Amino acid sequence: MNDRIRTGGCLCGAVRYEVSGEPYIAGLCHCTKCRKLTGSAFSATANWRQDQFVMTGSVQTYDRRQFCPACGSRLFFLFEGGMEIFLGTLDDAPYGITPHLEVWTTRREPWLPQMPGVDTHEQNPPPL
Ligand SMILES: [Zn+2]
Ligand SMILES: [Zn+2]
Repeated sequence: MNDRIRTGGCLCGAVRYEVSGEPYIAGLCHCTKCRKLTGSAFSATANWRQDQFVMTGSVQTYDRRQFCPACGSRLFFLFEGGMEIFLGTLDDAPYGITPHLEVWTTRREPWLPQMPGVDTHEQNPPPL
């Protein structure tokens, strides 16, 4: 197997992680919650399975989302069997993962164009 390994971590470096292989879903979300929690206009995240992920350091959790207690960087949303990673925490920039899903487009800033070839939803998509 030659799965691509990507490394990432928080701003201060206390939390580091690796993910192997490609995510099974990658998306953008413009919802009001993602705006608040990222401090940005939208979130860019992707999901990997639990067995593709290794982490060092310790995190704290607020509203099921993990952050570095030292520097405050938002890192993951851990769930049963996998994790959603905030892609801005990857070391590579650009990180080479193209979103194929865009949700809460009713909240998208008007200066952001719609991406071609992306599955869009005005609010949350139906469950997988
Ligand atoms: Zn940190
Ligand atoms: Zn959201």
